[in-house]
Amino acid sequence: MNVITVKNLTISYNKKPAIKGVNLNIASGSVIGIVGPNGAGKSTLLKGILGLLPFDTGEVKIFGKDIEDSRKRISYIPQREQFDWDFPICVEDVVMMGRYAHLPIVGFPKSGDRQIVEEVLKKIEMDKYSKRQIRQLSGGQQQRVFLARALAQESDVYFLDEPFVGVDAKTEKAIFSLMKELKESGKTILVIHHDLGKVLEYFDKLIMVNQTLIAFGDSKEVFTPELINRTYGGKLTILQKTEELIS
Ligand code: ADP
Ligand code: MG
Repeated sequence: MNVITVKNLTISYNKKPAIKGVNLNIASGSVIGIVGPNGAGKSTLLKGILGLLPFDTGEVKIFGKDIEDSRKRISYIPQREQFDWDFPICVEDVVMMGRYAHLPIVGFPKSGDRQIVEEVLKKIEMDKYSKRQIRQLSGGQQQRVFLARALAQESDVYFLDEPFVGVDAKTEKAIFSLMKELKESGKTILVIHHDLGKVLEYFDKLIMVNQTLIAFGDSKEVFTPELINRTYGGKLTILQKTEELIS
C-alpha cells in the first residue's frame, strides 16, 4: 500500500497558487528529498500533505486515511526558524512532547515514556543537556532536540523541513545516519533540501518541484541536468553547479 497519496493538490496564498496540481504516490521504506529553489512551494507542499493548510483542490491520504486519522503515525520537524526558541522549556520537556500522542487524554507521562525520552536523548548525544533551556543550545543541538522529539513519537512517517540548514558537521552526520536507520526499519522519510549538494548520497528518491511537480522518481534517474535546470529555472549559477554535480 502507498504511504502517501496526493491527488491534484493546489494550495494558494491570497489566491496566488504556491503549488499547482501535484500528484504523488509514495511507498514506504525510503528517504525522499523534496528539492527546488527558494519559494518553489516545498514547505507549502509538506504542510499541505500534513493537513496544516487549506486546499484549493485535491486530496491527500496517508495510509489510505485522512490526515486526522493518521496523525499519530506522523512526525513533523518544521524549519528551525519557525519555532519559538525563547519559549522557556528544557530539552527533556520538548522531547516528552513527542510522547503526547501516546498518553491518555488526561494523563501524565509514565516511567516507560520517561525511559523512551532518555533513550532518544542518548541516541542523539543530548542526554547531558536534558535540563538545559532550549534557547541556550547551538543550532545543531536544537535540530538534534527536534529529531529526538520525532524519534520519541515512534512514528511511521517523518517530515523534515530543511534539517541541514545551520547545523554543524556532526549534526549533519547524525541526521543522515538516523534517516538511514529509520528507512531500514521500514519508515518513510520526506526531507526538504534546497541545496543540490549530496542529493544522490542522501536521497533514494526525489520530488523536484517548482510550483508544479517537475519530476518524481529514483534520484539516479531524475537528478539529470535537464530536470535540474527545469526545476531551478535555468539560472546560470545553478547551471554551472549542475555540471560539477553530475560529473
Ligand atoms: P519554499 O519552501 O520552497 O521556499 P514556500 O512553500 O515557503 O517555498 O513558499 C512558496 C510561495 O508561497 C512563496 O512565493 C512564498 O512567498 C509564498 N508563501 C509562503 N507562505 C506564505 C504565507 N503564509 N502567506 C503568503 N504567501 C506565502
Ligand atoms: Mg521552505
